[in-house]
Amino acid sequence: MTHVFHRDLRAPPPEIVHGEGAWLVDARGRRYLDACGGAAVSCLGHSDARVTAAVAAQMDRVSFSHSGFFTNAPAEALARRLVEAAPAGTGAGRAMMVGSGSEAMEAALKLARQYHLERGEPERTRIVAREGSYHGNTLGALAVGGHAGRRAPYDPLLMQIGHVGACHFYRFAHADEDSEAFGRRRVAELEARLAEIDPDTVAALVIEPVGGATLGTPTPPAGHLRDLQELCDRHGILLIADEVMCGMGRCGTLYAMEAEGAHADITIVAKGLGAGYQPIAAVIVSERVVDAVEQGSGQLWNGHTYMSHAAACAGALAVLDAIEVDGLLARVQTSGERLRGALETAFGNHPHIGDIRGRGLFRSIEIVADRTTKAPFDAKLGLAPRIKALALEEGLMCYPAQGCADGTAGDHVLLAPPYTCSDAEIDEITPRLARAVDRALTEARA
Ligand code: PLP
Repeated sequence: MTHVFHRDLRAPPPEIVHGEGAWLVDARGRRYLDACGGAAVSCLGHSDARVTAAVAAQMDRVSFSHSGFFTNAPAEALARRLVEAAPAGTGAGRAMMVGSGSEAMEAALKLARQYHLERGEPERTRIVAREGSYHGNTLGALAVGGHAGRRAPYDPLLMQIGHVGACHFYRFAHADEDSEAFGRRRVAELEARLAEIDPDTVAALVIEPVGGATLGTPTPPAGHLRDLQELCDRHGILLIADEVMCGMGRCGTLYAMEAEGAHADITIVAKGLGAGYQPIAAVIVSERVVDAVEQGSGQLWNGHTYMSHAAACAGALAVLDAIEVDGLLARVQTSGERLRGALETAFGNHPHIGDIRGRGLFRSIEIVADRTTKAPFDAKLGLAPRIKALALEEGLMCYPAQGCADGTAGDHVLLAPPYTCSDAEIDEITPRLARAVDRALTEARA
């Protein structure tokens, strides 16, 4: 009898007792290759002694002191590091460290509101975001997200948000559009929507530079993020980049915006920042937003108890050190290509794999009933969760989700293995996944 409120009350999950590189081991001795880092979290695998030593050493000194009273060396060093490494254009900004991606999104939204109030534009109250996106599970972050299925039960509690079309080429491009033309159309649609609602009432546009959990790693068309940045600048709207999943090296650059030659006014990162050793997220704020606060009230109005947590910041610093010292950004790029090649070989001609997409070690396959029409399977078949369960039987962790086609239907499986995986481990992922996919399809047809 368990007293943990598990996600599935009828089927409690196996108990994990040990982590070893890219592998987790359960109480029965079964080994799982963690090909999704849980949810794109465990970028260094599960046993990096440098990170655990850094956390332990900080805890020996002091674990926590409230940020309303004190600062601490790991928080100062981490903020400096995150700001200095941020894409050009961020300037001499600042970073605040909080406990989770959702908390970071809430802080980013409130800071956007504060920015406009500090500048004397109280009419800027609206947030615009994208259909199909995911920005966290607290009520504010959930409202910003555009995934119909995840929002539905809480809809009466959610603030009103303007959602514009998802930047998801495979699903939403017209037949005669290439990727760049699709990106330009999305920008034009956004501009038209802004004109409708009055751009002077909009506080921020929130995007995932590379989509994540809900759409399965769609990458932006070339130039698209720069175009968005330019559009936001022109209308005095802040651009918030949610890099909770795609940032911190996951796509082969420390920040995903960097690869696009773009930058945001506010960027949030989490997951890979703590790599699972500590729960931590960060809000990286550009110089221009900091200046408005500094020259206005001079106060950050939003606060959380665990801001600048010393042990968590020490862990994140050690993660960033490991990424740098071990040359892991380059490794993500080469391993990412290796994984892409394996997925193309296994699924490129598969009758039920409609799309293989992603960047770096952030890859997805989308499963369809019909490759020509892109028709998804009936959501009630629960194909994606079934693949997850069968992959576990194959000793593989992958991250499936439903709704990438229309918010309810559309099955994809996301892969986000540790940056530290050996070539042999990368090569292990695809055959195990292929067996799980084929078993799930056989069951669905039965
Ligand atoms: N933003 C994105 C893009 C995410 O993928 C997630 C979590 O999956 C979040 C925000 C929320 O992060 P957390 O679950 O740490 O609150």
